[in-house]
Amino acid sequence: MKIACEIIRDLLPLYHDGVCSMESRELVEEHLTECGSCSGELLAMDTVLPVSNEESQWDDAKSVIQLSKKWKKGMLRSVLKGMLSTAIAFAVLIIILYLFIDIKIVVRP
Ligand SMILES: [Zn+2]
Repeated sequence: MKIACEIIRDLLPLYHDGVCSMESRELVEEHLTECGSCSGELLAMDTVLPVSNEESQWDDAKSVIQLSKKWKKGMLRSVLKGMLSTAIAFAVLIIILYLFIDIKIVVRP
């Protein structure tokens, strides 16, 4: 039975991942024995797919790292903001107290 290369190439990813039916598998294997370009395609899948998987995993890892960096930066920024606003509130309180005490001192004598 002769099957068009396009059909086999549609099936190749399924065949490669071992998720196609036995019949499809037999068809693909039969075709691969006769067709060099399709078996080349399968070989390319064997070599290219793991690399692209690693790359996408590496990209995932990089984006996670970048996210956590951004998150840490955000945390640091909010902590700094909190400290700054606390310091400002404290300074204002001290100034008010100082002025209040100063006025009392001025008023008393
Ligand atoms: Zn073919």
